[in-house]
Amino acid sequence: TFRPAERIASLGVSEILQIGARASARKAAGHDVITLGAGEPDFDTPDHVKQAAWDAMQAGETKYTALTGTTALKDAIARKFSRENGISYASDEIIACTGAKQVIYNAMMATLDPGDEVIIPTPYWVTYSDIVELCGGIPVLVRCEADQGFRLTADQLRRAITDKTRWLMLNSPSNPSGAAYAAPDLCPLIDVLLENPQVWLMVDDMYEHILYDDFRHVTPAALCPSIAPRTLTINGVSKAFAMTGWRLGYAGGPADLISAMAIIQSQSTSCPSSITQAAAIAALDGPQDFLADRRDSFCQRRDLVVNRLNDTPGLSCRRPEGAFYAFAECNDLLGVQTPEGGVLTTDRALCNWLLETADVAVIPGSAFGLPGYFRISYAASIETLETALTRIEQACRQLS
Ligand code: PLP
Repeated sequence: TFRPAERIASLGVSEILQIGARASARKAAGHDVITLGAGEPDFDTPDHVKQAAWDAMQAGETKYTALTGTTALKDAIARKFSRENGISYASDEIIACTGAKQVIYNAMMATLDPGDEVIIPTPYWVTYSDIVELCGGIPVLVRCEADQGFRLTADQLRRAITDKTRWLMLNSPSNPSGAAYAAPDLCPLIDVLLENPQVWLMVDDMYEHILYDDFRHVTPAALCPSIAPRTLTINGVSKAFAMTGWRLGYAGGPADLISAMAIIQSQSTSCPSSITQAAAIAALDGPQDFLADRRDSFCQRRDLVVNRLNDTPGLSCRRPEGAFYAFAECNDLLGVQTPEGGVLTTDRALCNWLLETADVAVIPGSAFGLPGYFRISYAASIETLETALTRIEQACRQLS
């Protein structure tokens, strides 16, 4: 009989994927399901990026590349970090991987010993805690509720740090809350880290281009150069350039950390896809003006979704600074009776019920470590969002 390894005993397939599969099954059975689950832009990859991939194939760039990425790609990444973030990284301080997910995996595999602790502000992207566990570490989850803007405070950080703490993981703007950290939010956290030299900082800037209302993205390594020697700054092309399927993420950090991550990569994927690397150069070096249009379009959707959620009895939603997620509180709807006579006691039950009665798929806060909420991904057309929010409102009004 099949016996899985202990290291995966407590892990399952991502709940987001499971809900997606359930939504697809309902669709296949003839229901008109709207899926607001997946974290994926609904735009297409820009044409000049596709063209660069085609040109690379024609030029024979179809072989293994250097382990941490081609020189041309790493140069483009260095230019990006310098131009957009104000950080300068040398070639041996940069690694390109098969998605930002692999960057995180490489970093944790390369640094965690059994029992090492990683502080993760909650709600979090579930990959963070699962990767820490896969690598033998202990996720230390710190609850950051809506009333603190879903942001970690310096006091919370100080209380969570022990001798075993190896990393703090920060994600701004955040999946799933959309909350972003401004310089005055970051500086006190960095001060705490400076007092605790055993703790490194993993920064996930994946959604940096999706920020609204003139909120300016700042990244810790640029804000405070003294934390840079133990900061890994992660980014990728998935969200900004609508390239989730191409699989390319990258990071800048101290050369010894990058070399250790390269060892892990050398025995897993060898290098990111050569064709994708060529496409990513075009994305990073090419025109960036379309990002503003997409941001405007996401902003309109954010306002629609947040306003409609706040008009729905029993729900409340903080207006997020960025990303394309709304994280709505639904505690007032839990424990009440449905028209069918059941009682929805958890956010999971509520999301199931919404899928079954309103044909809208959203993800429970529990999947991100914070029960009593659900996440809507608003990377969908205004018309689709209008319909979905009307259905959610009608359903919620039935809960007495
Ligand atoms: N970081 C965050 C916060 C994300 O939400 C995601 C995707 O959902 C990623 C990273 C993944 O990026 P990639 O597609 O490069 O693996």
